[in-house]
Amino acid sequence: PFFYYLRRVISIILPIYNEEKGLVQFTQNLNDSIRDIPHDFEIIFVNDGSQDHPLSVILELCRENSTYKYINLSRNFGHQIAVTAGIEHAKGDYIILMDSDGQDPPEVIRRLLAKAEEGYDVAYAQRIKRKDESWLKKITASAFYKMLNKITSVEIPVDTGDFRILNRKVADALIRMPEKQRYLRGQIAWLGYKQAAVSYEREGRNAGETGYTYKKMISLALDAITSFSNSPLRLATISGFVCAFIGLLLIIYTLYAKFILKIYEPGWPSLMITIVFLGGIQLLGIGMIGEYISRINDNVKNRPLYLISDTNIEHA
Ligand code: UDP
Ligand code: MG
Repeated sequence: PFFYYLRRVISIILPIYNEEKGLVQFTQNLNDSIRDIPHDFEIIFVNDGSQDHPLSVILELCRENSTYKYINLSRNFGHQIAVTAGIEHAKGDYIILMDSDGQDPPEVIRRLLAKAEEGYDVAYAQRIKRKDESWLKKITASAFYKMLNKITSVEIPVDTGDFRILNRKVADALIRMPEKQRYLRGQIAWLGYKQAAVSYEREGRNAGETGYTYKKMISLALDAITSFSNSPLRLATISGFVCAFIGLLLIIYTLYAKFILKIYEPGWPSLMITIVFLGGIQLLGIGMIGEYISRINDNVKNRPLYLISDTNIEHA
């Protein structure tokens, strides 16, 4: 034939944590918007130890459709690890990461795919609006990303979540990154290759509520910082130097006051201030070092990143 169209396999990875209520509707919408894309789709549901019972919903969906796969993790490992489990089991030439709560609109898939077919290795969706999110979340998120970009050497695009398409090359590269602290946005930015942005408006959730508690967000933020920047460590070192230098000046001045000027008064306020100040700085430094050591410890333990309790994927 003169014209021949290469049919590709596209894997869509859906991490699921307590999404029982909205999942059927979401899958329906997803299906509607990919139906006439002339490729083969593989949808991978990764149940990340949900407290409600989306597994029965997922199993039902998988019974109805043979191209649906599921991975049931043995407990809640967190969003980033759930997505990683999906990537490691995806067969697709292209891999799409998206949330399963309806906030990442399926209509955008077509545009992401177009970019990928144009030859970009990664196309990430960049939101121009966020609906349904508290002002506190918006403000903290935007301040965090600004700060992160300042202190890291890789440029992590702002206003992006994990909604994106990767080609096989990028997925394989990601799988080769062995670190236990997964921060996929950062890791993908670190990889380089040809990347493009597609802008969209982020929707509100279909049902249920966010699985990202502030505790989980803070831990993701700390993982992001320590994985991509050593500047907190350097800050500890620099402040240590500065304090030691000020301390030295104080010692010289004290000796000078006592032996030359002879106006020395034993003053406990200055003493207390010095002790408290230095003590604070020391604790800060030790705390920061602790952050890194705990992560080194995690990596040295070399535990598996996740455990699967059951799946319908062969050789998993
Ligand atoms: N999620 C997950 N494990 C978790 C928390 C969330 O797999 O521990 C999933 C969740 O089901 C959703 C996606 O990750 O598909 C994004 O989570 P969420 O919508 O709760 O975060 P938000 O959009 O509020 O930042
Ligand atoms: Mg969400």
